[in-house]
Amino acid sequence: MSTRDEILTHVRRHGSASRPELQTALGMSRPVVAAVVRGLLAEELLTEHQGENRGGRGRPGRRLRPRYPAGAVVGADVSHRHLTVAAATLDLTVRAERRVAIDVDTRPTAALDVTADMIRQTVQEVRLTVDGPVNACVVGIPGPLDMSKRAIASPTILSSWSGLDLAAELGSRTGLTVSLDNDANLGALAEHRHGAADNRGNLIYVKASDGIGAGLIVHGIPVSGSFGAAGEIGHTQVIPDGDWCRCGNRGCLETIVSVRQVLQQIQHFYPGDADLRSRLPEIAHHPVARKILAESGRTLGRVLANLCALLDPAAVIIGGEMSQAGEAFVDGVRDSIERLAQPGFDNRVLVAASALGTRAELIGSLTLARDIALRDGARRPEG
Ligand SMILES: [Zn+2]
Repeated sequence: MSTRDEILTHVRRHGSASRPELQTALGMSRPVVAAVVRGLLAEELLTEHQGENRGGRGRPGRRLRPRYPAGAVVGADVSHRHLTVAAATLDLTVRAERRVAIDVDTRPTAALDVTADMIRQTVQEVRLTVDGPVNACVVGIPGPLDMSKRAIASPTILSSWSGLDLAAELGSRTGLTVSLDNDANLGALAEHRHGAADNRGNLIYVKASDGIGAGLIVHGIPVSGSFGAAGEIGHTQVIPDGDWCRCGNRGCLETIVSVRQVLQQIQHFYPGDADLRSRLPEIAHHPVARKILAESGRTLGRVLANLCALLDPAAVIIGGEMSQAGEAFVDGVRDSIERLAQPGFDNRVLVAASALGTRAELIGSLTLARDIALRDGARRPEG
């Protein structure tokens, strides 16, 4: 990466930066930073603002902010039960958003058609208020994707979409260039750039909803593995000879900790209440629900403790629907990680609920779409 691209990428990633911050973060000399920034200001890719004097001493420094090209990007989050599509300008301000219930698992072709329809409608809506092209579209999928990121990599998970060239199918239906990524990877990207992980270089993000998947970031780079299945921790075995899992094995983490399983246990204390799922944050205060959530958190934490021993992350961020279940669940995760960590290593890793909540995957899809748009040459700043 050239010096110019390094500086531009840093300011875009962090939202703003001062010249001294650039020198420190990128290990560049003052004259180099000054010269490159002068060029980027002349190209109108950066703007300069007076910073706030937070410390109350000395003169506030001047801050550089990114200026984005015209146009929009589209992101979509496909879950086992819902589809959310949003379009945003390149500063990631959402200008159009739609959400519907879908059934990917049993009605695959219909789900594909609905996804394409929703993308088309969202694009139409954003074109009413945003000038410039729709530059990129990223769709997050709740399953492992093969290396070329075009198809489901597992014959058992999301099997109804297995073998389909999903990017091509959606591309031909929408007229856009569509890229795919795993949903937990997108959640990790969003939390890394905009959320609770705050640009920490090594991060484990867990999407805990109907499935359990992890997105890994190592040295600031998302890791998808040799075969696209890195972070599929939902299918690590925690109970030998336990219940059968949808993946074809027995006793997987998902058979114990998914939101469906946890709600089934809590249901005993709310007989006749058919809609516990939408009230999860509220019922999490029930004393028995708290115990169940804490125990589920500790089970997830035992698997994550092993992952922490392997990767030594700075942060473990818990997202998905289970992150909405109050503090008990995340406290349980933290409890196991701290209890099982090696002596001297405890308390260093941040274990926290997602700052972006159930929107992390959607924001991640928009963030990756913007990265693709900027990489592919959407360089001219907005009028
Ligand atoms: Zn499984």
